[in-house]
Amino acid sequence: MDVLLLPGDGIGPEITAVTRTVLEKLNRLFDLHLNFAEDDVGFSSLEKHGITITNALIERVRNTDMTILGPVDTAHYPPADQGGVNPSAALRIKLDLYANIRPSRAIPGLPAVAPDMDLIIVRENTEGFYADRTMFAGSGECMPTPDLALATRKITRNGSFRIARVAAQMAALRRKHLTIVHKANVLKLSDGLFLSEAQKAASQQGDLVIDDEHIDAMASLLIRNPAAYDVIVTTNMFGDILSNEAAELAGGLGLSGSLNAGDDIAIAQASHGSAPDIAGQNLANPASLLFSTVLLMDWKGKQAKRSDLQTAAHALDGAIIKTLQNPQSRTCDLGGTASCSEFGRAVIKNLE
Ligand code: NAD
Repeated sequence: MDVLLLPGDGIGPEITAVTRTVLEKLNRLFDLHLNFAEDDVGFSSLEKHGITITNALIERVRNTDMTILGPVDTAHYPPADQGGVNPSAALRIKLDLYANIRPSRAIPGLPAVAPDMDLIIVRENTEGFYADRTMFAGSGECMPTPDLALATRKITRNGSFRIARVAAQMAALRRKHLTIVHKANVLKLSDGLFLSEAQKAASQQGDLVIDDEHIDAMASLLIRNPAAYDVIVTTNMFGDILSNEAAELAGGLGLSGSLNAGDDIAIAQASHGSAPDIAGQNLANPASLLFSTVLLMDWKGKQAKRSDLQTAAHALDGAIIKTLQNPQSRTCDLGGTASCSEFGRAVIKNLE
């Protein structure tokens, strides 16, 4: 099975290097027969190919079993017509990775505002309010006059149904509770469509408790009663914001894994950005990318019926948690003094 690592920008090369070393150890321990390769995305691709992500790379990802994508510094890219394409968006759209799966789970022994939180946010990834994915041609944002900017929000019947189906399937394997988050009281047509399709998909799963909340209420409820939620499904932008809130409540953005999944392809990607302020200093916390890799291995294990991958994913999850529980191996964002590579070595030790 092939594993492709795309280091990306900023702290990306540091955290993907740690992830590769940990995976190589896992490969030996569990005899997984993984073959590793790396390729350019972001500024390194811009330098070599004149564009931050090439079509050839997108095709390579399509044909690779497991891809791990480092963070990309999109805010500092040149305009798209000068090669500064958002690689995350390009991969999500071209490979139809419509489900962004973002668990938030507090880790015993690590400080958290919500120590009993254990939920998954399933965020629609290919439509919603993101102007780069709402149009067949052109952008969903425009300025008809210098003083007026408009953005288009796209909600489709199929997009709403399929994301809720993924969420319902996940809920069925967990505590059987699905919460649909929307704003159908104001966005009556678009979120009305999302809500009705999500309810339809969820009801087909059977044996689930299904409820729904308005996004503004949900933002408060996550703080008031975080243990009450199991799987939450929502549209693109609501999910982006809500998942960061949940991650912070559960211990910090640097700890939350993230998977971009379609029906046949998935990509692990940390939920944080490229952290240019600490790049190149061996200070970054690689836990988010490592937890994302756990999600990817588990997903691939299920899809390819490779229980050894799932067993290895479970072992890796335990080793990352054990590393985080030891204050000596925590990185500076968690109040520790360990470097990025020391964190990686501690994970490897905890795997043995
Ligand atoms: P950021 O997540 O990169 O950084 C926010 C803060 O968190 C910074 O202080 C940073 O040092 C810290 N931080 C982030 N990840 C960390 C880690 N693993 N370990 C320790 N500290 C960490 O957000 P930003 O500064 O708003 O964005 C920087 C760049 O990343 C921008 O170009 C943005 O567009 C991009 N971005 C990319 C992704 C992605 O690739 N998935 C996601 C979000 C932002």
